[in-house]
Amino acid sequence: MTFDVIAETISNKTFRFKCPFCYSKYKKDGTPYKRSKRIYHTHGSNGELYNRVEHRMAHCYGNKEYTTDFNIHITDNTKRI
Ligand SMILES: [Zn+2]
Repeated sequence: MTFDVIAETISNKTFRFKCPFCYSKYKKDGTPYKRSKRIYHTHGSNGELYNRVEHRMAHCYGNKEYTTDFNIHITDNTKRI
């Protein structure tokens, strides 16, 4: 299933967003630790900084049941870095 997210930052080479599914640390049984945090996924960009939607396959390797791919929205709220 495709999931829509907003990119938090974008540079000439990459953009990234905070994943609504993935945590930084998991126990052996696959559940996240209480103190673990949401992680960011970084994807390659095309060198342009304008607002747009980029489609990418998910990097949610531990959470494949939730999403297969993302529409990543680069908006006025996306910080240019
Ligand atoms: Zn993820």
